[in-house]
Amino acid sequence: MRYLPLFVDLQERRAVVVGGGGIAARKTALLLEAGAEVHVVAPRIGAELDALAKSGRIAHHAVPFSPDALADARLVVAATGDASVNCEVAVAAEARGIHVNVVDDADLSSCIVPAIVDRSPLIVAVGTAGAAPVLARHVRTRIESMLDESFGRLAAVLGRWRARIRAAWPESGARRRLYDQLLTGAFASLIRCGRMPEAESLLARALESSPPSGGRVLLVGAGPGDPGLLTLNALRALQAADVVLHDRLVSAAVLALSRRDALLVEVGKSGCGRSTAQGDIHRLMVEHARAGRTVVRLKGGDPFIFGRGGEELEHLRAAGVVYEVIPGITAASACAAYAGIPLTHREHSKSVRLVTAHGREFTDAIDWRALAASQETLAVYMGVATVSELQRELLCYGRDAATPVAFVENGTLPTQRVIVGRLGEAARLAAEHQLTAPALLIVGSVAALAARLHWYGAPPLVSDPTAKHRLPAGLAA
Ligand code: SAH
Repeated sequence: MRYLPLFVDLQERRAVVVGGGGIAARKTALLLEAGAEVHVVAPRIGAELDALAKSGRIAHHAVPFSPDALADARLVVAATGDASVNCEVAVAAEARGIHVNVVDDADLSSCIVPAIVDRSPLIVAVGTAGAAPVLARHVRTRIESMLDESFGRLAAVLGRWRARIRAAWPESGARRRLYDQLLTGAFASLIRCGRMPEAESLLARALESSPPSGGRVLLVGAGPGDPGLLTLNALRALQAADVVLHDRLVSAAVLALSRRDALLVEVGKSGCGRSTAQGDIHRLMVEHARAGRTVVRLKGGDPFIFGRGGEELEHLRAAGVVYEVIPGITAASACAAYAGIPLTHREHSKSVRLVTAHGREFTDAIDWRALAASQETLAVYMGVATVSELQRELLCYGRDAATPVAFVENGTLPTQRVIVGRLGEAARLAAEHQLTAPALLIVGSVAALAARLHWYGAPPLVSDPTAKHRLPAGLAA
């Protein structure tokens, strides 16, 4: 190990920055964040430093560098861009036993500034001993994405309770197990949700009795299939999972992002909304959570859009299991985007309605008159099997047979297909192209824009617009 990583307390200690340009300004900002009393030595300074000097946050010495400038300094940063001045600073600092960092010159430096992930009081510092600062920044970005903002709150609470935890759990092995459970269970979830009083009372109970054994359930939207459409929070959840209970609709590429040791369990059916095993899903979630595990309940798209997420939360609530909800990109936004169909458009449609056309009962449950009468865009989920009824009812209540429609099959996946036509021929197109689930049907004049605005995968198959709208037998326009 070429360098010893240390965290240096610079609160109200003097730090000297030599140089007045952009890099000097960035180093100054960092030192100010660390609470240092910053003195900038440079004949001229840029606008940023000037503003800081005028507001009294730094002291500016408008003189060339001389070793006297280092009086009482704990740390000096040379950022002049002039090799001979930087060298002079390094020599002067060395002579006084003051740590010096010369920007981009590890040989002249006695210490180097790492790449930092700041979740104060939690701080992660990454360094490569000056070998490859770009690599350090790359690693920093990866760590950054792993640690959500709540880690700072978590570290602060644990700091406040540290002495009490130590007193209540003097034996180090037991204390470590307690920490493990706190960091991976309901306690961490409550902190992430900003429910601090509940988190602290859980901690207080843990000190009086046994460690909290409760895990948690994260109800996560996996998006439509392309793993790039996961949210950062969804990715973090997958990487923290002990168990992933997923729908069949969730793509293999998304599942591959789960923690390697996680137990993956396929539950429910593929997006047809009715699952014979809903009761089993409830039972599994509760059992795993009660055993202290982090359970990710992973659903295609968004869990609150035709996903039965509400029912699952009702059940968790009744069972007293702590949960979080992480939204996902729903099929309507994803398929529309990947097909080049703006769901709303100033000239075509001012509103969009998400509807499901699943099940025998749906024809009675839907207010067809309202759907057919307006010019709004309809995004129809689970509509392939029932497209004939859908077409019949919309036409019957007066929507124009020439209204453009688009089917998006396997949206956002490499197998995506987009078929564009007219409402009057929707059922025929679905049959002719042998559309299979998952597919989303978009009804409204915006659908026609796919022919022009498409950008992903194969161009849409556009049915001949001059052809007469042949209606399947028995359907009246
Ligand atoms: N909760 C999900 C929807 C579940 S219902 C969401 O928010 O997206 C399942 C229906 O969603 C499918 O029948 C289909 O209509 C639609 N769907 C989901 N993923 C899709 C995809 N990749 N391409 C096209 N349609 C999709």
